[in-house]
Amino acid sequence: SLRAQDLDFAFGQRKVLHDVHLELYPGEVLAIVGESGSGKSTLLRLLHGDLRPSRGVVEADDGHGRRCDLAELRQQELRQLQRSRWALMTQNSRDSLRMQHSAGANIIERRLAQGERSYARLRAEAKDWLARVEIDPDRIDDTPQQFSGGMLQRLQLARVLISRPSILLLDEPTSGLDLSVQAAVLDLIRKLVQSSAMAVALVTHDLGVARLLAQRLIILQGGRVVEAGLVDQVLEDPQHPYSQLLVASVL
Ligand code: ATP
Ligand code: MG
Repeated sequence: SLRAQDLDFAFGQRKVLHDVHLELYPGEVLAIVGESGSGKSTLLRLLHGDLRPSRGVVEADDGHGRRCDLAELRQQELRQLQRSRWALMTQNSRDSLRMQHSAGANIIERRLAQGERSYARLRAEAKDWLARVEIDPDRIDDTPQQFSGGMLQRLQLARVLISRPSILLLDEPTSGLDLSVQAAVLDLIRKLVQSSAMAVALVTHDLGVARLLAQRLIILQGGRVVEAGLVDQVLEDPQHPYSQLLVASVL
């Protein structure tokens, strides 16, 4: 699991997160909802250890049953954790994918890092995952440069899901996909979470997506958590005026 406590974060003078607390549990999806600029992507980067909080701590299981403060890890230890146990799907696929390598090479990278060595097996797995995210497996040797925006997003998803991370951080995984593909991708994520005990943080501006996938929810406004609780409860009885507005617009 992963826990963030009393998190503040600022880019220079601009404070973008205030006093954020959250916890991710195995087998559970936490949706992080908020308007554009509310700090959702920044929060994921803090949870992934790519940014350091100006106040507060992010604590994670170090893989040996101990809790550790990410800020206290050496760079090498952090990279090792990121590669072996966590996965971050960024909002902009070009930040994460290796655009000059093949789709297949992008997908199997984390499996290689996990020690899988059979090339035939990896290639079969990569094809299987392309199909699961609704990309023609015959395009395994194409480079991402030859893919559309929606395909890049799905390639990134295959790349993070194949490694079955214990902590999965998804930044708007289905925004911009057409509805039929969106449904397939959401279904894929839901089944994986149910069968693998991943702890998932799902950033979305869409409460409908949160309702489909998540059990718990936080709503950010201006970098502050204005609502936190069970999805069903929040949808039924939102407390904060901003959440009331959001809920009213989805139902
Ligand atoms: P969106 O829904 O549009 O993706 P978001 O909720 O993910 O928005 P963030 O990207 O986390 O929002 O940005 C939060 C705030 O931090 C914004 O005010 C943004 O301008 C600011 N910000 C983000 N990245 C940087 C950066 N590298 N340098 C300075 N300010 C930044
Ligand atoms: Mg964002």
